[in-house]
Amino acid sequence: MSGEGERRRGPASERKQSAENGGGGEVDLAKIERAARMILEAVGEDPDREGLRDTPARIGRMYAEVFSGLREDSSQVLSTVFTEEYDEIVLVKDIPFSSMCEHHLLPFFGKAHVAYLPRSKIVGISKLARAVEHFAKRPQVQERLTNQIADLISSTLNPRGVAVVLEATHTCMTMRGVKKPGSSVVTSAMRGVIRNSVATRNEVLGLMDRKTSLI
Ligand code: ZN
Repeated sequence: MSGEGERRRGPASERKQSAENGGGGEVDLAKIERAARMILEAVGEDPDREGLRDTPARIGRMYAEVFSGLREDSSQVLSTVFTEEYDEIVLVKDIPFSSMCEHHLLPFFGKAHVAYLPRSKIVGISKLARAVEHFAKRPQVQERLTNQIADLISSTLNPRGVAVVLEATHTCMTMRGVKKPGSSVVTSAMRGVIRNSVATRNEVLGLMDRKTSLI
């Protein structure tokens, strides 16, 4: 993203990102800026040349954004719960997400499919996408991200079953190291009856896999 349209702000010391829900405290933007400047110097760049002058500040704001989930309260993410006697599968497919691999601080991104089989409580559909976003916005591994989404739905809704499937491209695999562009990583977390019943699991996985053409 170009810096052109970005809002100019005051000195770093005055722009600490405020904590949203008392989660992980404030982001120390000034510290990120110092670190980014040191990295540029360490690789042999001149951090004061025109193109790089605002880069450390931009990186500070970027990290505050991509790690914003650390400062949110997980217990508030699925707060809008309704009592409803619906006992069939609820599935939200193709939720785009991006996260940061904690081993390299490089992005991994793809799609999440989130399903649950309610017992007596349902949650606003958009909150399922919100749960994905909440856990994606922190240093992550895809395996843990998948489990955290499933566990939050399990503990908040006490549903009969949960299934979360994530498929993602990891830029730490495509642009460095083994350099395997086009590869994707699929992880799944199954809970309750979706884990224990082959028929139910196959129904959910079939729905996730189906190419819908309703519109
Ligand atoms: Zn990595």
